[in-house]
Amino acid sequence: MTPNTVAPLDAAALAASDQATLIHPHSRIGAPAEPLVIARGEGARIWDATGKRYLDGTCGLWQCAVGHGRAELAAVAARQMETLEFYSSFGDYSNPQAIALGERLLEIAPDGIERIFFTNGGSEGVETAVKLVRFAHAQAGQPERTVILSRTRAYHGVGSASLAATGMPAMKEKMGPLPDGFVHLSEPHARRDDAGAVDRMVAELEQTIERIGPERIAAFIGEPILGVGGMVPPPDGYWDRVQEVLRRHGILLILDEIVTAFGRTGYWFAAERYGLQADLIVTAKGLSSGYLPMGAVLIGKRILELADGGLFLHGFTYNGHPTCAAVALENLAIIEREGLLERARTVGPDLLARLRPLEQLEHVVEVRGEGLMLGVEISDAETAAAVAAGCRRDGLIVRASGPSLVLSPPLVITAEEVDELVELLSANVRTRGADGKRS
Ligand code: PLP
Repeated sequence: MTPNTVAPLDAAALAASDQATLIHPHSRIGAPAEPLVIARGEGARIWDATGKRYLDGTCGLWQCAVGHGRAELAAVAARQMETLEFYSSFGDYSNPQAIALGERLLEIAPDGIERIFFTNGGSEGVETAVKLVRFAHAQAGQPERTVILSRTRAYHGVGSASLAATGMPAMKEKMGPLPDGFVHLSEPHARRDDAGAVDRMVAELEQTIERIGPERIAAFIGEPILGVGGMVPPPDGYWDRVQEVLRRHGILLILDEIVTAFGRTGYWFAAERYGLQADLIVTAKGLSSGYLPMGAVLIGKRILELADGGLFLHGFTYNGHPTCAAVALENLAIIEREGLLERARTVGPDLLARLRPLEQLEHVVEVRGEGLMLGVEISDAETAAAVAAGCRRDGLIVRASGPSLVLSPPLVITAEEVDELVELLSANVRTRGADGKRS
C-alpha cells in the first residue's frame, strides 16, 4: 500500500459491522443509522469505503486546518514514537516536545498570555478553565466567586462543567443533575438590521451581574463566534462592550477558541480579530489539525497572580503528550509556511460574498460568516437537514446544526474546490436538497 491509498474495502460489511459494534456520538441507542464509512483523505477531499469522493466542507468537526493526508505530520509522529512515544508530565516530569510547543504557543498567543496547560481536547480544556478560575479566586481569598456566566446557544463540550456551561437544553436532557453555578444570558446573535441588539445584550449582562452580585461571579465564558450554534459572528461592538463590563466587575474572561483558534478566522486567535484580552483561552482541534488529539489552555497573567502559590491538583494522563505535541508543532509550522491565516482572510470573504445571494430565496434566513467559518440559516431544521443530505449525495459534506448549515472547509481548499462548494451548496439550497437523490 502506498501512502494515501487504501485497499478496496467491503463497504457493506463494514457498515453492517459498524451497526453491530459501535455506539456513535450523537446517535440513537438501539437504532443505529447506516454509517458513511470514510476511508481516505487528501487536502480538502475525502473518500468513503465504496470509493466515492466528497469535498469536505466541514473538515469533520472543524479541526483539520491543514487538510487531510499530510505525509509530513505522519513522518513527525513516526519519528517521535520511535524516540519517546509518551511519558507523564505530572509534577516535575516534562519532555522536549511539550516544552517546544508551549514556547511556540506563547510566541503566537495574544499579549498577556503567559503559561500553557495541555489537554486531549476541547471539553477537557473547558473543564480545566472552569476549575482554574474558581481555584484562582479561592486561592486569592474569594472562594465565593464561583458562578460562571455563559450564553444560550453556546457549545462548550460534554464534561460535567462544560455541559453545564453549554446553552443547548436538548443536550442536557436525561443527563442531570448537572452542577449548579452556571447562568445563561441571551444568545449573542442579532440580525443585521437590529441596531439596538448590543445595548440590550449589555444591559442584560449588567442586570444579571447586579442580581447575582459581582462578588459571586468567577468568570464569563464565550465562543468569540458561536460554532455549533450555527457559525454566528457577534454583532459589531459586542465584545468591546462585554469586556468593559467584565473588567469593571473583576469578572474573568474565558474565551472558548476550540473552533476559532489557529487560523479559522484568519488570525492565530479570534481574540486578535475582536481585540480581546482573555484571562484564559481554551483551544484544541486546529492545534493538531486533528491528526492526534491535543488541546491547550492558554493562561493569562491575572490568573497566575490570583492562583500564585496554590497546588492545582488537576491533570489528564496524556497532558503534554510528546507525540501529539510534535505533530502540533509541525501543524503550526505548516499553517505559517503555507500562509493559511491569509488564505482564510481572503477565501472566507470571497466564499461569503458568493453565498450571500442565497438570502434572496424565501426559505433562506441569513448567510453569515467570519474567515472560513460560515453559516447558511434556513427556515427550519428539517429543510436544513434535507439540504445537507442532498449535498452529501452530490459529493459535498456540510453539516446541519439546527436550522443552520455550517461550513468550515480546510484552510487549504483550492479555488476550484471553492467553486464546486458554491455550486453544489447553492443548487441544493435552491431545491431544498430535493434533487440530491440523483447520484
Ligand atoms: N467548545 C467548542 C466551541 C466546540 O466546538 C467543541 C467541540 O466541537 C468543544 C468545546 C468540545 O470539544 P471536544 O469535542 O474536543 O471535547
